[in-house]
Amino acid sequence: MTDEMVRADNVHKSFGSLEVLKGIDLVVKQGEVSCVLGPSGSGKSTFLRCINHLEKINAGRIFVDGDLIGYRERGGKLHELKEREVAAQRRAIGMVFQRFNLFPHMTVLQNVMEAPCRVKRESKSEVRDRAVALLDRVGLGEKKDSYPAQLSGGQQQRVAIARALAMRPKLMLFDEPTSALDPELVGEVLDVMKDLARDGMTMIVVTHEIGFAREVGDSLIFMDGGVVVEQGPPREVIGNPQQERTKAFLSKVL
Ligand code: ADP
Ligand code: MG
Repeated sequence: MTDEMVRADNVHKSFGSLEVLKGIDLVVKQGEVSCVLGPSGSGKSTFLRCINHLEKINAGRIFVDGDLIGYRERGGKLHELKEREVAAQRRAIGMVFQRFNLFPHMTVLQNVMEAPCRVKRESKSEVRDRAVALLDRVGLGEKKDSYPAQLSGGQQQRVAIARALAMRPKLMLFDEPTSALDPELVGEVLDVMKDLARDGMTMIVVTHEIGFAREVGDSLIFMDGGVVVEQGPPREVIGNPQQERTKAFLSKVL
């Protein structure tokens, strides 16, 4: 048993000759919210994608809830898991992107029910009850029969969060979930994320919302150039950064 929900050990990732992740080490404990900050191109999205094996890492290891992601270790060698096994690992990890990627031809409720119905472990009525409850939870119970195009960006993003939660993930990854939103819609999405955090969800959140990181984050990770430059309690990293690169970045976003 471990209370580590995510462990990354010396994770390397290259695209051709471009080395994007140069040895990432990170631990996120069960129930913690870890916020990741860093300039564009520093590898934040790539790192999140590696956690659910959407990208295959070149070296190192990633564990989620004690499970080695993407591989099985046998006789000191790593063997890639079959697509079916990777899919099973992914189901435990919810992901929310900058662009909401809802299915445009499905209602809000159908969007939330789609993935759990496809897995077919539960009856449709169980899935439906849970989807309705999740939509209530993100404040969109009234919108369940609307189509995505009829919703604001903030509402669509809340549906995307409900859709990820419908699979009952043990970990949620957020990749700049509010960056595509008009400023007046950011708060409603952050409020849903705060509520999730209070409820004990383990979350890794790539964001430029410093206020959110300070208020909700248990740790803040500053990435630049494919490495973790600095990490610690958000108030300390934000209030008293130790590294020049962190200071320079924060002076631009604060
Ligand atoms: P961030 O999210 O911090 O802005 P990314 O992880 O998106 O950074 O990208 C890091 C670097 O990796 C960038 O230089 C980007 O162009 C490159 N990159 C990301 N995905 C790919 C890909 N599929 N193929 C080639 N290069 C990529
Ligand atoms: Mg990114």
